[in-house]
Amino acid sequence: MSLSGKTAIITGSNSGIGLGVARELAKAGADVVLNSFTDRDEDHALAAEIAKETGTKARYIKADMSKGEECRALIEQAGSCDILVNNAGIQHVSPIDQFPVDKWDAIIAINMNSAFHTTAAALPMMRKAGWGRIVNIASAHGLTASPFKAAYVAAKHGVVGMTKTVALETAQEPITCNAICPGYVLTPLVEAQIPNTMKEYNMSREEVVKNVLLERQPSKEFATVEQLGGTTIFLCSDAAAQITGTTISVDGGWTAL
Ligand code: NAD
Repeated sequence: MSLSGKTAIITGSNSGIGLGVARELAKAGADVVLNSFTDRDEDHALAAEIAKETGTKARYIKADMSKGEECRALIEQAGSCDILVNNAGIQHVSPIDQFPVDKWDAIIAINMNSAFHTTAAALPMMRKAGWGRIVNIASAHGLTASPFKAAYVAAKHGVVGMTKTVALETAQEPITCNAICPGYVLTPLVEAQIPNTMKEYNMSREEVVKNVLLERQPSKEFATVEQLGGTTIFLCSDAAAQITGTTISVDGGWTAL
């Protein structure tokens, strides 16, 4: 599958799943646009490294996905967008009656609203190009819930709902919109939850991984960023041209329980 000649924009891609998906898309030939809210030398160096490794054009564009106008500016600045991967996301864990309002607002803005703004800006470009793929990185929490993750679960369910609507609005065009729902993937977002959980439950790192993080993941293995990249590439392939408005779980059986 060659994505040569296609431009892919991956939001929140200087780390974790976004970076992994960007690498796989570049390996498949796409010119990739990396993004986050920082503008450090190492952010641009990541893009340079991908360009060198794959021989594709790779760029880094700073834009804060918590701000609607910056989401739209990211797409405009990239100049074209054949593949849009809405991946930027954050987490905060707290009972709902103690959930900090600023954290709620940030999660809804970054994890859900950003996909509205980028999709709105990218669709006219896809229509002009006559081809487009929108891949929303939702979560198993877009299909099921866990306690203490009200904002995250609300945002991810929202993304799954928006995915269906965008698919219906583009159903008769050569554009698809789908959501990938990963279970646990060992990225900085998940790593950050381990030390507190170790303290909270008085457990070793191994016990936290097996008994807490992977408790609901029947495979007892993390999904990998490469697997999510591969799933994204599949959704960009001709074989997936009639797959739209749906979710693909990459969760080791979590949602089968
Ligand atoms: P991560 O923390 O490694 O990556 C998050 C990315 O989002 C980073 O590149 C970060 O810079 C970026 N980001 C954060 N705030 C931003 C902002 N305001 N503007 C632009 N970029 C911003 O986490 P990850 O695990 O790779 O998560 C990526 C996505 O996958 C998220 O949407 C997350 O909800 C989802 N997800 C992760 C898991 C998992 O187990 N890791 C499971 C299911 C879904």
